[in-house]
Amino acid sequence: MRFFPLFADLRGRRVLVVGAGEVAERKVRLLRDAGASVVIVAREVLAPELAEWLADERADAAAGEGTVSWLAREFAEAQLEGATLVVAATDDAALNERVAAAARARHLLCNVVDDAEHSGFIVPAIVDRSPLVIAVSSGGVAPVLARLARERIEALFDESFGALARLLEAWRGRIRRALPDVAARRRAYERIVRGRVADLVRHGRTVAAGEELARQLEGGGRSERGSVALVGAGPGDPGLLTLNALRALQQADVILHDRLVSAEVLALARRDATRIAVGKAARSHSVPQERIHELMLEHALAGRRVVRLKGGDPFVFGRGGEELEVLARHGVPFEVVPGITAALACGAYAGLPLTHRDHAQSLRFVTAHCGDSADSLDWASLARPRQTLALYMGVAALGRIREQLLRHGRAPATPVAIVEHCSRPEQRVTLATLDALEDVAQRGGIESPALLVVGEVTALAERLHWFGTAPRRWEALRQVA
Ligand code: SAH
Repeated sequence: MRFFPLFADLRGRRVLVVGAGEVAERKVRLLRDAGASVVIVAREVLAPELAEWLADERADAAAGEGTVSWLAREFAEAQLEGATLVVAATDDAALNERVAAAARARHLLCNVVDDAEHSGFIVPAIVDRSPLVIAVSSGGVAPVLARLARERIEALFDESFGALARLLEAWRGRIRRALPDVAARRRAYERIVRGRVADLVRHGRTVAAGEELARQLEGGGRSERGSVALVGAGPGDPGLLTLNALRALQQADVILHDRLVSAEVLALARRDATRIAVGKAARSHSVPQERIHELMLEHALAGRRVVRLKGGDPFVFGRGGEELEVLARHGVPFEVVPGITAALACGAYAGLPLTHRDHAQSLRFVTAHCGDSADSLDWASLARPRQTLALYMGVAALGRIREQLLRHGRAPATPVAIVEHCSRPEQRVTLATLDALEDVAQRGGIESPALLVVGEVTALAERLHWFGTAPRRWEALRQVA
């Protein structure tokens, strides 16, 4: 580690900035926010905001911000007198080096902007959720990586972390008095930042968050109830998780996940979360639904944060509604994080626009489960033209779907697509016609999970596919065989 990380208190301290262009402006902005007395050395002030800050110097001082003043002169060593830090931000490399050398001679730390080599200190990329501030540095070697890291962190720590940090700041004294024992206090803090209080802050309910915090302190720092997040894990590619899903996974004590949830998604969960597979495959119900309800309740009522993780979206053929009803009945707090459902993912990853001005004005999500559901569907309306059908759980029922749609008048030549393992490296897309579906079912070796898409738009995949291997055309395949 070449640079020692630190956070400096610059309030009221003199910081000399040599240069008054855009780079200087960026540094001055931060220094001013931190309450420094910034002195700019430059013959001209070019950056417009710098000029503005110079104009309302007095107002700033009154508002508790730093001040900005200007020495309209050449740089001279004497200007370093009384400075705490120095920033060389001119576009003249020789001058910057001279400033750095003069600073070094006086044992002052000097930052040469964009030049870690000549710098005594460098300024990190930051995520500012004051009072929580996260600083990232690559030691000046690869600023672009530091910025990438910052962007990722920024996404993880949304704006609400500032509010949470302010809440903790305000309650610090009370928490200390209520929980004098250090270990108990640490556990309580853990619960606060991972638990219900943080949830309420995130939802903008700061008053309720304060009330919940008070309740927890009265109970000796314990929160009686856990909670459940019903989270959509998307089709498999972890990049399709939402930020809220990622946060829920990283805060979870217990994760109850379906078979459809990919290993890559599970790998993003908090390391010491207990993972329980409650997967279901068609026909072999490994864990009955009632048992899943029991597990959710058991862990939540024991005060744990449960994530109920489902493939795709939890409210699309996911029995999410039933699970929430159970929780509501038992007064367990819950939240729902939507996920990318298979139909949307298959559309995107197989290059089939699900609606299209020329071909389909509506899109229907249909379950074609092998049970009774296929018989109770309104096939007459499903067979109408100019719509796209996304048929979930239809692998075992391809023949029956074909028969019903044809019987109710859908044209035999209607293009269809079967997308297996959507968004996964092993994704495979088969393009066929409605008429050929039975054949595909018998000889296509279709694996679960797979989605059947019916409608003219599926023909577009021929041209619009971009992910994984090219789609196979069933007719062409048959001719070869
Ligand atoms: N809640 C899920 C659907 C659960 S039903 C969602 O919103 O996606 C399970 C069915 O979804 C499977 O039988 C299959 O038809 C479809 N499915 C789920 N993931 C899939 C994937 N990665 N590729 C293709 N189909 C998928």
